Amino acid sequence: MSAQNHVTLILPDWLIPIVPSGFFHQEGIAIQGDRIVDKGSHEELRHRYPAATVTRLPGHVLLPGLINIHTHAAMTLLRGLADDLPLMIWLQQHIWPAEGRFVAPDFVAMGTRLAIVEMLQGGTTCFNDMYFFPDAAIAMAQEMGMRMVAGHVIIDFPTTYTRNAEDALRLAEEQIARFAKVPMLRQTVAPHAPYSVANGALQEAAAIARQSGLPIHMHVHETAAEVRDALQRDNRRPLRRLADLGVLGPDFLAIHMTQLDEEDLALCREYKIAIGHCPESNLKLGSGIAPVARLLEQGQRLGIGTDGAASNNDLDMLSELRTAALLAKGRDQDPTAFPAQQVLRAATLGAAEALGWDQEIGSLEPGKAADCIAIDLDRPASTPVYDPISQVVYCASRDQVQEVWVGGRRKIYRGQALEWQIPEVVAEAHLWAQRIRKEAKQ
Ligand SMILES: [Zn+2]
Repeated sequence: MSAQNHVTLILPDWLIPIVPSGFFHQEGIAIQGDRIVDKGSHEELRHRYPAATVTRLPGHVLLPGLINIHTHAAMTLLRGLADDLPLMIWLQQHIWPAEGRFVAPDFVAMGTRLAIVEMLQGGTTCFNDMYFFPDAAIAMAQEMGMRMVAGHVIIDFPTTYTRNAEDALRLAEEQIARFAKVPMLRQTVAPHAPYSVANGALQEAAAIARQSGLPIHMHVHETAAEVRDALQRDNRRPLRRLADLGVLGPDFLAIHMTQLDEEDLALCREYKIAIGHCPESNLKLGSGIAPVARLLEQGQRLGIGTDGAASNNDLDMLSELRTAALLAKGRDQDPTAFPAQQVLRAATLGAAEALGWDQEIGSLEPGKAADCIAIDLDRPASTPVYDPISQVVYCASRDQVQEVWVGGRRKIYRGQALEWQIPEVVAEAHLWAQRIRKEAKQ
Protein backbone atom coordinates (compact mmCIF):
# COMPACT_ATOMS: atom_id res chain seq x y z
CA MET A 1 0.00 0.00 0.00
CA SER A 2 1.50 3.38 -0.95
CA ALA A 3 1.92 6.15 1.61
CA GLN A 4 -0.74 8.11 -0.28
CA ASN A 5 -3.33 5.35 0.28
CA HIS A 6 -2.36 4.62 3.82
CA VAL A 7 -4.86 5.68 6.48
CA THR A 8 -3.80 7.07 9.83
CA LEU A 9 -6.24 7.27 12.72
CA ILE A 10 -5.77 10.07 15.22
CA LEU A 11 -7.58 9.10 18.41
CA PRO A 12 -7.52 11.77 21.13
CA ASP A 13 -9.60 11.77 24.32
CA TRP A 14 -11.61 14.73 23.02
CA LEU A 15 -12.37 16.04 19.54
CA ILE A 16 -13.28 19.69 18.87
CA PRO A 17 -14.19 19.64 15.17
CA ILE A 18 -15.69 23.22 15.19
CA VAL A 19 -18.39 21.83 12.84
CA PRO A 20 -20.52 20.68 14.54
CA SER A 21 -19.86 22.90 17.55
CA GLY A 22 -19.04 21.46 20.95
CA PHE A 23 -16.66 18.66 21.95
CA PHE A 24 -16.88 14.89 21.54
CA HIS A 25 -15.46 12.39 24.01
CA GLN A 26 -13.51 9.40 22.60
CA GLU A 27 -13.90 10.52 18.98
CA GLY A 28 -11.20 10.95 16.36
CA ILE A 29 -10.44 11.34 12.68
CA ALA A 30 -8.96 9.28 9.85
CA ILE A 31 -6.48 10.96 7.52
CA GLN A 32 -5.18 9.77 4.17
CA GLY A 33 -2.63 11.69 2.12
CA ASP A 34 -3.30 15.37 2.79
CA ARG A 35 -7.02 14.94 3.63
CA ILE A 36 -9.34 14.10 6.47
CA VAL A 37 -11.33 11.15 5.14
CA ASP A 38 -13.48 10.15 8.09
CA LYS A 39 -14.60 11.05 11.59
CA GLY A 40 -16.21 8.99 14.33
CA SER A 41 -15.85 7.20 17.64
CA HIS A 42 -12.57 5.41 18.33
CA GLU A 43 -14.38 2.10 18.10
CA GLU A 44 -16.05 2.84 14.76
CA LEU A 45 -12.84 4.09 13.20
CA ARG A 46 -10.78 1.10 14.35
CA HIS A 47 -13.47 -1.19 12.96
CA ARG A 48 -13.64 0.62 9.60
CA TYR A 49 -9.86 0.87 9.12
CA PRO A 50 -8.31 -2.27 10.62
CA ALA A 51 -5.04 -1.78 8.68
CA ALA A 52 -4.61 1.87 9.67
CA THR A 53 -1.71 3.27 11.65
CA VAL A 54 -3.10 4.43 14.98
CA THR A 55 -1.91 7.53 16.81
CA ARG A 56 -3.51 7.26 20.23
CA LEU A 57 -3.41 10.52 22.19
CA PRO A 58 -4.66 9.95 25.75
CA GLY A 59 -5.26 13.14 27.72
CA HIS A 60 -5.15 15.20 24.51
CA VAL A 61 -7.73 17.27 22.70
CA LEU A 62 -7.62 17.37 18.89
CA LEU A 63 -8.76 20.48 17.04
CA PRO A 64 -8.18 22.23 13.72
CA GLY A 65 -4.84 24.00 13.37
CA LEU A 66 -5.04 27.64 14.46
CA ILE A 67 -5.04 30.27 11.71
CA ASN A 68 -3.19 33.49 12.46
CA ILE A 69 -5.22 36.13 10.59
CA HIS A 70 -2.50 38.80 10.54
CA THR A 71 1.28 38.51 10.62
CA HIS A 72 4.44 40.14 9.39
CA ALA A 73 6.34 36.89 9.91
CA ALA A 74 9.85 38.10 9.10
CA MET A 75 9.60 40.77 11.82
CA THR A 76 10.53 38.09 14.36
CA LEU A 77 14.07 39.33 13.72
CA LEU A 78 13.04 42.77 15.08
CA ARG A 79 11.34 41.33 18.16
CA GLY A 80 12.06 43.55 21.16
CA LEU A 81 14.10 46.08 19.14
CA ALA A 82 11.92 48.96 20.38
CA ASP A 83 9.00 48.77 22.80
CA ASP A 84 6.71 51.04 24.81
CA LEU A 85 6.34 53.73 22.13
CA PRO A 86 3.35 55.24 20.27
CA LEU A 87 2.63 53.65 16.87
CA MET A 88 3.92 56.47 14.67
CA ILE A 89 7.12 57.07 16.69
CA TRP A 90 7.70 53.33 16.87
CA LEU A 91 7.23 53.01 13.10
CA GLN A 92 8.97 56.17 11.93
CA GLN A 93 11.95 56.25 14.31
CA HIS A 94 12.61 52.57 14.90
CA ILE A 95 10.92 49.99 12.71
CA TRP A 96 11.01 51.71 9.31
CA PRO A 97 14.70 52.76 9.62
CA ALA A 98 15.70 49.22 10.70
CA GLU A 99 13.69 47.78 7.83
CA GLY A 100 15.32 50.27 5.46
CA ARG A 101 18.73 48.95 6.44
CA PHE A 102 18.14 45.24 6.71
CA VAL A 103 15.07 44.05 4.86
CA ALA A 104 16.15 41.93 1.92
CA PRO A 105 15.32 38.41 0.71
CA ASP A 106 17.76 36.73 3.14
CA PHE A 107 16.34 38.69 6.11
CA VAL A 108 12.78 37.72 5.10
CA ALA A 109 13.74 34.07 4.60
CA MET A 110 15.42 33.82 8.01
CA GLY A 111 12.76 35.78 9.89
CA THR A 112 9.99 33.74 8.29
CA ARG A 113 11.81 30.51 9.17
CA LEU A 114 12.01 31.54 12.82
CA ALA A 115 8.34 32.58 12.74
CA ILE A 116 7.20 29.28 11.20
CA VAL A 117 9.01 27.24 13.83
CA GLU A 118 7.48 29.39 16.58
CA MET A 119 4.01 29.20 15.02
CA LEU A 120 4.06 25.43 14.46
CA GLN A 121 5.24 24.78 18.00
CA GLY A 122 2.36 26.91 19.23
CA GLY A 123 -0.31 25.12 17.15
CA THR A 124 -0.63 27.55 14.23
CA THR A 125 -0.87 25.78 10.87
CA CYS A 126 -1.66 28.74 8.58
CA PHE A 127 -0.68 32.41 8.64
CA ASN A 128 -1.97 35.37 6.67
CA ASP A 129 1.17 37.36 6.05
CA MET A 130 1.87 40.89 4.84
CA TYR A 131 5.52 41.72 4.27
CA PHE A 132 8.15 42.80 1.78
CA PHE A 133 9.77 40.19 -0.49
CA PRO A 134 6.80 37.80 -0.17
CA ASP A 135 8.55 35.55 -2.70
CA ALA A 136 11.25 34.82 -0.11
CA ALA A 137 8.61 34.08 2.55
CA ILE A 138 6.67 31.86 0.14
CA ALA A 139 9.82 29.88 -0.70
CA MET A 140 10.47 29.33 3.01
CA ALA A 141 6.88 28.28 3.76
CA GLN A 142 7.02 25.83 0.86
CA GLU A 143 10.34 24.44 2.01
CA MET A 144 8.97 23.93 5.52
CA GLY A 145 5.56 22.62 4.42
CA MET A 146 3.64 25.44 6.12
CA ARG A 147 0.30 26.69 4.87
CA MET A 148 0.44 30.40 4.08
CA VAL A 149 -1.50 33.33 2.68
CA ALA A 150 1.02 35.74 1.14
CA GLY A 151 0.13 39.43 0.95
CA HIS A 152 1.63 41.59 -1.77
CA VAL A 153 2.32 44.90 -0.03
CA ILE A 154 1.33 48.12 -1.78
CA ILE A 155 2.80 51.26 -0.21
CA ASP A 156 3.43 54.77 -1.59
CA PHE A 157 6.81 55.48 -0.09
CA PRO A 158 10.09 53.81 -1.08
CA THR A 159 11.17 50.65 0.77
CA THR A 160 13.98 48.20 0.10
CA TYR A 161 11.36 46.21 -1.83
CA THR A 162 9.61 48.76 -4.06
CA ARG A 163 10.20 52.40 -5.07
CA ASN A 164 6.57 53.55 -5.02
CA ALA A 165 3.00 52.27 -5.28
CA GLU A 166 3.17 51.94 -9.06
CA ASP A 167 6.23 49.73 -8.76
CA ALA A 168 4.54 47.69 -6.00
CA LEU A 169 1.38 47.19 -8.07
CA ARG A 170 3.33 45.89 -11.08
CA LEU A 171 5.37 43.55 -8.90
CA ALA A 172 2.20 42.32 -7.15
CA GLU A 173 0.62 41.46 -10.52
CA GLU A 174 3.72 39.61 -11.63
CA GLN A 175 4.03 37.58 -8.44
CA ILE A 176 0.32 36.77 -8.20
CA ALA A 177 0.57 35.12 -11.62
CA ARG A 178 3.85 33.42 -10.73
CA PHE A 179 2.53 31.80 -7.53
CA ALA A 180 -1.06 31.16 -8.65
CA LYS A 181 -0.84 27.37 -8.64
CA VAL A 182 1.43 26.69 -5.68
CA PRO A 183 -0.07 24.14 -3.23
CA MET A 184 -0.93 25.19 0.35
CA LEU A 185 -0.59 28.82 -0.71
CA ARG A 186 -3.13 31.56 -1.25
CA GLN A 187 -2.40 35.23 -1.93
CA THR A 188 -3.86 38.64 -1.14
CA VAL A 189 -3.29 42.15 -2.41
CA ALA A 190 -2.19 44.10 0.65
CA PRO A 191 -2.37 47.90 0.52
CA HIS A 192 -0.56 48.81 3.74
CA ALA A 193 -3.01 51.30 5.32
CA PRO A 194 -5.30 54.19 4.37
CA TYR A 195 -2.61 56.72 5.39
CA SER A 196 0.16 55.11 3.34
CA VAL A 197 -1.63 54.47 0.02
CA ALA A 198 -3.17 57.20 -2.18
CA ASN A 199 -6.59 56.91 -3.83
CA GLY A 200 -5.44 55.89 -7.31
CA ALA A 201 -3.17 53.12 -6.05
CA LEU A 202 -5.90 51.87 -3.70
CA GLN A 203 -8.36 51.55 -6.55
CA GLU A 204 -5.79 49.83 -8.71
CA ALA A 205 -4.92 47.42 -5.90
CA ALA A 206 -8.61 46.54 -5.55
CA ALA A 207 -8.90 46.06 -9.32
CA ILE A 208 -5.92 43.67 -9.38
CA ALA A 209 -7.36 41.71 -6.44
CA ARG A 210 -10.75 41.40 -8.10
CA GLN A 211 -9.35 40.39 -11.48
CA SER A 212 -7.40 37.61 -9.76
CA GLY A 213 -10.19 36.65 -7.34
CA LEU A 214 -8.03 37.43 -4.30
CA PRO A 215 -8.91 39.11 -0.99
CA ILE A 216 -7.68 42.60 -0.08
CA HIS A 217 -5.73 42.63 3.20
CA MET A 218 -5.24 46.02 4.85
CA HIS A 219 -4.65 47.72 8.22
CA VAL A 220 -7.70 49.94 8.89
CA HIS A 221 -8.66 52.21 11.82
CA GLU A 222 -5.76 51.02 13.93
CA THR A 223 -5.55 54.15 16.10
CA ALA A 224 -7.61 57.20 16.98
CA ALA A 225 -4.85 59.40 15.49
CA GLU A 226 -5.27 57.67 12.11
CA VAL A 227 -8.96 58.56 12.07
CA ARG A 228 -8.37 62.12 13.39
CA ASP A 229 -5.69 62.88 10.79
CA ALA A 230 -7.89 61.55 7.99
CA LEU A 231 -10.79 63.75 9.13
CA GLN A 232 -8.48 66.78 9.06
CA ARG A 233 -7.10 65.89 5.65
CA ASP A 234 -10.25 65.18 3.64
CA ASN A 235 -13.11 65.40 6.05
CA ARG A 236 -13.85 61.66 5.88
CA ARG A 237 -13.12 58.75 8.15
CA PRO A 238 -10.81 56.19 6.43
CA LEU A 239 -13.51 53.49 6.17
CA ARG A 240 -15.85 55.99 4.48
CA ARG A 241 -13.10 56.91 2.03
CA LEU A 242 -12.49 53.22 1.22
CA ALA A 243 -16.23 52.77 0.64
CA ASP A 244 -16.35 55.85 -1.63
CA LEU A 245 -13.39 54.52 -3.63
CA GLY A 246 -15.17 51.19 -4.22
CA VAL A 247 -12.56 49.23 -2.29
CA LEU A 248 -14.86 47.65 0.32
CA GLY A 249 -16.66 44.35 -0.31
CA PRO A 250 -16.94 40.79 1.03
CA ASP A 251 -13.38 40.20 -0.23
CA PHE A 252 -12.00 43.00 1.98
CA LEU A 253 -10.21 41.99 5.20
CA ALA A 254 -9.77 44.93 7.60
CA ILE A 255 -7.14 44.45 10.28
CA HIS A 256 -7.39 46.13 13.72
CA MET A 257 -10.62 48.19 13.50
CA THR A 258 -10.24 49.53 17.04
CA GLN A 259 -11.95 52.85 16.27
CA LEU A 260 -15.49 52.31 15.00
CA ASP A 261 -18.46 54.64 15.31
CA GLU A 262 -22.03 53.78 14.31
CA GLU A 263 -21.47 54.82 10.71
CA ASP A 264 -18.36 52.62 10.48
CA LEU A 265 -20.28 49.68 11.91
CA ALA A 266 -23.02 50.24 9.34
CA LEU A 267 -20.40 50.23 6.55
CA CYS A 268 -18.99 46.93 7.85
CA ARG A 269 -22.47 45.46 7.66
CA GLU A 270 -23.37 46.97 4.30
CA TYR A 271 -20.19 45.79 2.54
CA LYS A 272 -19.98 42.48 4.49
CA ILE A 273 -16.26 43.01 5.10
CA ALA A 274 -14.17 40.57 7.15
CA ILE A 275 -12.32 41.64 10.30
CA GLY A 276 -8.91 40.70 11.68
CA HIS A 277 -8.71 41.23 15.43
CA CYS A 278 -5.20 41.65 16.95
CA PRO A 279 -5.89 42.33 20.63
CA GLU A 280 -2.36 42.07 22.07
CA SER A 281 -0.76 44.29 19.43
CA ASN A 282 -3.58 46.82 19.94
CA LEU A 283 -3.04 46.73 23.69
CA LYS A 284 0.73 47.00 23.52
CA LEU A 285 0.63 49.95 21.14
CA GLY A 286 -2.17 51.51 23.19
CA SER A 287 -4.29 51.65 20.04
CA GLY A 288 -7.69 50.72 21.40
CA ILE A 289 -10.01 47.73 21.52
CA ALA A 290 -12.10 46.43 18.62
CA PRO A 291 -15.80 45.92 19.48
CA VAL A 292 -15.65 42.20 18.73
CA ALA A 293 -18.95 41.13 20.29
CA ARG A 294 -20.81 43.80 18.34
CA LEU A 295 -19.09 42.90 15.06
CA LEU A 296 -19.95 39.20 15.51
CA GLU A 297 -23.49 40.08 16.48
CA GLN A 298 -23.97 41.90 13.20
CA GLY A 299 -22.69 38.86 11.27
CA GLN A 300 -19.16 39.98 10.33
CA ARG A 301 -16.65 37.17 9.60
CA LEU A 302 -13.84 37.55 12.12
CA GLY A 303 -10.41 36.02 12.72
CA ILE A 304 -7.78 36.55 15.42
CA GLY A 305 -4.14 37.45 14.81
CA THR A 306 -0.94 38.31 16.59
CA ASP A 307 0.36 40.98 14.19
CA GLY A 308 4.16 41.06 13.81
CA ALA A 309 6.49 39.95 16.58
CA ALA A 310 7.84 43.50 16.82
CA SER A 311 4.51 44.71 18.24
CA ASN A 312 3.25 41.72 20.26
CA ASN A 313 6.01 40.35 20.91
CA ASP A 314 5.19 36.70 20.22
CA LEU A 315 3.25 34.66 17.70
CA ASP A 316 1.40 32.74 20.41
CA MET A 317 -2.17 32.18 19.25
CA LEU A 318 -3.35 30.41 22.41
CA SER A 319 -2.42 33.43 24.49
CA GLU A 320 -4.04 35.66 21.86
CA LEU A 321 -7.30 33.70 22.22
CA ARG A 322 -7.35 34.20 25.95
CA THR A 323 -6.61 37.90 25.60
CA ALA A 324 -9.36 38.25 22.97
CA ALA A 325 -11.90 36.53 25.23
CA LEU A 326 -11.01 38.52 28.34
CA LEU A 327 -10.76 41.83 26.55
CA ALA A 328 -14.20 41.50 24.93
CA LYS A 329 -15.75 40.82 28.34
CA GLY A 330 -13.85 43.65 30.00
CA ARG A 331 -14.63 46.11 27.23
CA ASP A 332 -18.37 45.45 27.30
CA GLN A 333 -18.52 44.69 31.06
CA ASP A 334 -20.30 41.51 30.02
CA PRO A 335 -18.98 38.06 31.01
CA THR A 336 -21.10 36.43 28.30
CA ALA A 337 -19.34 38.40 25.52
CA PHE A 338 -17.14 36.30 23.17
CA PRO A 339 -17.56 32.89 24.83
CA ALA A 340 -14.82 30.24 24.48
CA GLN A 341 -16.53 28.27 21.68
CA GLN A 342 -16.92 31.47 19.64
CA VAL A 343 -13.28 32.44 20.29
CA LEU A 344 -12.04 29.06 19.11
CA ARG A 345 -14.28 29.25 16.06
CA ALA A 346 -12.86 32.69 15.20
CA ALA A 347 -9.29 31.34 15.37
CA THR A 348 -10.11 28.47 13.00
CA LEU A 349 -13.19 28.50 10.76
CA GLY A 350 -13.85 32.24 11.25
CA ALA A 351 -10.38 33.05 9.93
CA ALA A 352 -10.79 30.57 7.06
CA GLU A 353 -14.07 32.29 6.12
CA ALA A 354 -12.43 35.71 6.33
CA LEU A 355 -9.73 34.50 3.94
CA GLY A 356 -12.17 32.73 1.60
CA TRP A 357 -10.40 29.43 2.32
CA ASP A 358 -13.16 27.73 4.36
CA GLN A 359 -13.83 25.00 1.79
CA GLU A 360 -10.38 23.61 2.62
CA ILE A 361 -9.46 24.48 6.20
CA GLY A 362 -10.84 25.68 9.55
CA SER A 363 -12.71 22.59 10.76
CA LEU A 364 -12.18 18.84 11.10
CA GLU A 365 -14.58 17.52 8.49
CA PRO A 366 -14.10 14.73 5.95
CA GLY A 367 -12.88 16.19 2.65
CA LYS A 368 -10.97 19.05 4.23
CA ALA A 369 -7.20 19.33 4.47
CA ALA A 370 -5.67 17.46 7.42
CA ASP A 371 -4.46 20.51 9.36
CA CYS A 372 -4.86 19.61 13.02
CA ILE A 373 -3.22 19.98 16.40
CA ALA A 374 -3.30 18.01 19.65
CA ILE A 375 -3.00 19.76 23.00
CA ASP A 376 -2.04 17.76 26.08
CA LEU A 377 -4.55 18.70 28.78
CA ASP A 378 -3.20 16.10 31.21
CA ARG A 379 -1.14 18.68 33.08
CA PRO A 380 -1.72 20.15 36.54
CA ALA A 381 -2.62 23.58 35.14
CA SER A 382 -5.44 22.21 32.98
CA THR A 383 -6.81 19.55 35.34
CA PRO A 384 -9.62 18.58 35.71
CA VAL A 385 -11.25 18.72 32.29
CA TYR A 386 -14.97 19.38 32.51
CA ASP A 387 -14.97 21.21 29.19
CA PRO A 388 -11.93 20.94 26.87
CA ILE A 389 -13.01 24.06 24.92
CA SER A 390 -12.84 26.09 28.09
CA GLN A 391 -9.43 24.52 28.93
CA VAL A 392 -7.98 25.37 25.51
CA VAL A 393 -9.10 29.01 25.65
CA TYR A 394 -8.67 29.80 29.35
CA CYS A 395 -5.88 27.48 30.62
CA ALA A 396 -3.73 25.84 28.01
CA SER A 397 -0.38 27.33 27.08
CA ARG A 398 1.53 26.68 23.90
CA ASP A 399 4.01 24.30 25.50
CA GLN A 400 1.05 21.91 25.80
CA VAL A 401 0.76 21.71 22.00
CA GLN A 402 2.27 18.30 21.39
CA GLU A 403 1.29 17.23 17.88
CA VAL A 404 0.82 19.28 14.71
CA TRP A 405 -0.15 18.13 11.21
CA VAL A 406 -0.21 20.43 8.17
CA GLY A 407 -1.75 18.98 5.01
CA GLY A 408 -1.52 15.50 6.52
CA ARG A 409 2.19 15.81 7.33
CA ARG A 410 3.29 15.58 10.92
CA LYS A 411 5.37 18.67 11.68
CA ILE A 412 5.54 18.52 15.46
CA TYR A 413 5.81 15.24 17.36
CA ARG A 414 5.71 15.26 21.16
CA GLY A 415 6.43 18.99 21.12
CA GLN A 416 9.53 18.71 18.92
CA ALA A 417 10.01 19.63 15.27
CA LEU A 418 10.50 16.55 13.12
CA GLU A 419 12.21 18.20 10.18
CA TRP A 420 14.50 20.88 11.60
CA GLN A 421 16.98 21.35 14.39
CA ILE A 422 15.34 24.10 16.41
CA PRO A 423 18.64 25.15 18.08
CA GLU A 424 20.09 25.75 14.61
CA VAL A 425 17.21 28.05 13.65
CA VAL A 426 17.64 29.95 16.92
CA ALA A 427 21.42 30.23 16.44
CA GLU A 428 20.98 31.63 12.94
CA ALA A 429 18.53 34.24 14.25
CA HIS A 430 21.06 35.25 16.92
CA LEU A 431 23.64 35.92 14.21
CA TRP A 432 21.19 38.23 12.45
CA ALA A 433 20.41 40.02 15.71
CA GLN A 434 24.11 40.63 16.33
CA ARG A 435 24.35 42.41 12.99
CA ILE A 436 21.19 44.42 13.61
CA ARG A 437 22.33 45.41 17.11
CA LYS A 438 25.75 46.53 15.87
CA GLU A 439 24.43 48.59 12.98
CA ALA A 440 21.51 50.04 14.93
CA LYS A 441 24.02 51.65 17.30
CA GLN A 442 25.91 53.40 14.49
ZN1 LIG B 1 0.15 44.65 11.03
